[in-house]
Amino acid sequence: MGKENEILVLGGGISGLATSWNLHKAGIPFKLIEKQPETGGVISSSTVDGTVLDFGPNSLRDRDGSIRKLAEEIGLKEEIVEISEAFKTRFIVRDGELQSLTPSLKTIFTTNVISGKAKWRILAEPFISKGTSEDESVGEFLERRIGKEALEYLVDPVFSGIYAGDIYRISKKEILPKLAENEQKFGSIAMGTLRSRKEKSEVKPVVLTFKKGIQQLTEAISSKISDYILNEEVTGVRKTGNGFEVETSKGKYTAEKVISCLPAYSLSSVLKGFAPALSHALSSIDYAPMLSTQVIFNTEGIELPRSGFGFLIPRKENIRLLGAIWKSSIFPALTSEGKIHFTLMTGGAHDRDILTDDIQKVEQHILSELSELMHISSKPEFLRSKLWRKAIPQFHVGYEATRLEFKQAEAANPGFYIGGNYRWGVSVPDCVKGAENLVQKIEA
Ligand SMILES: Cc1cc2nc3c(=O)[nH]c(=O)nc-3n(C[C@H](O)[C@H](O)[C@H](O)COP(=O)(O)OP(=O)(O)OC[C@H]3O[C@@H](n4cnc5c(N)ncnc54)[C@H](O)[C@@H]3O)c2cc1C
Repeated sequence: MGKENEILVLGGGISGLATSWNLHKAGIPFKLIEKQPETGGVISSSTVDGTVLDFGPNSLRDRDGSIRKLAEEIGLKEEIVEISEAFKTRFIVRDGELQSLTPSLKTIFTTNVISGKAKWRILAEPFISKGTSEDESVGEFLERRIGKEALEYLVDPVFSGIYAGDIYRISKKEILPKLAENEQKFGSIAMGTLRSRKEKSEVKPVVLTFKKGIQQLTEAISSKISDYILNEEVTGVRKTGNGFEVETSKGKYTAEKVISCLPAYSLSSVLKGFAPALSHALSSIDYAPMLSTQVIFNTEGIELPRSGFGFLIPRKENIRLLGAIWKSSIFPALTSEGKIHFTLMTGGAHDRDILTDDIQKVEQHILSELSELMHISSKPEFLRSKLWRKAIPQFHVGYEATRLEFKQAEAANPGFYIGGNYRWGVSVPDCVKGAENLVQKIEA
């Protein structure tokens, strides 16, 4: 089965879909193999009584216009919903209260999230001597540069709430390469950042979604390439004389090139017989779980959330909830009239109990935490959760060695490519950009 000259793309999340779309535009024959009846992977939107729920990604930060360009190509230009400037304010919980952080550098000095002492410690950053150039955790690196309190209250909530990670395990070289480089080059991350602010890009970053949620993006790509999608599970990959053979739940396909956009653990299992060293490296990539809970309240009787994106909670606060996105504030067009919609995040690398706990009990627990933090006394009229058992890949200290394994496997097997969020970066825009770069490389 299959034609020799086709490229086989494995996995139909945003990485595989964006790769396929770029191949399609370039006129390169391909087939996309996705095991689920629906494409999109962790991108999952639905609508309940006029309110759009996103159980996976909730908003996309389009740094360089790639998402807008893709949306225009697939006919979604009119469906883009941009976040309002006014909602760039974020809140962080300190001693059980929400404290604001506005999007400017001076907020560090005006906010109540950290004490005066912690602010002075940040100001001392340029005078702290340079540390190791070797990889180390984001926690070790930033604790040295800006002090423990700023780390616990400004850095940890972002990493645990957004990356579902543990700052003392995440690699500085992977996640903060520019800051790590600035420390080595200028002896200070503040000095380096001030200098690089001058080299601003021409495109203004925009945070956006679509009228029917993020899944509208993956559905639109899928409908453009539906003739080339096979709903089958990949079970094995092996090298043949002049290419590869991909075995699926339904048969065998041969191809000159194979692009994997499978999650690391799936690729690890399909490669066991063919590339054991790579399979082993892939199996060691840790994925943190995440529970996404959608809660809708009637506005009557409760105060509307303050203007802002939502809030994040430092682990130091001993609150189980990681954070909340004020969906109806940031994208009012996606919430039905008279309703308030929150997306709550729980779990992550610090809370793997979520995998075995009774989800209904967890829901009640985090709902009471939300109600206390936001002074809500009424009951929600809608609540639904989705547990992602392996939500977000973790770029732990030493990830460089794993990246080297990817390169070596690709060099040893020309025509075999490894893509996906654990290679290109976890955000949807990172995956879209990675796919674009890979197809350009293949075309060249
Ligand atoms: C709860 C949550 C919130 C997030 N929030 C944001 C956000 O707000 N903004 C943002 O930019 N990013 C966010 N992310 C991250 C982002 O959504 C993901 O990193 C990205 O969507 C991953 O895309 P992917 O295609 O690489 O992987 P996946 O989406 O995991 O896709 C992999 C695909 O491979 C398929 N597959 C697996 N095994 C096989 C097999 N054997 N055969 C065939 N097919 C197979 C799967 O079914 C799946 O469709 C969030 C992620 C989660 C989980």
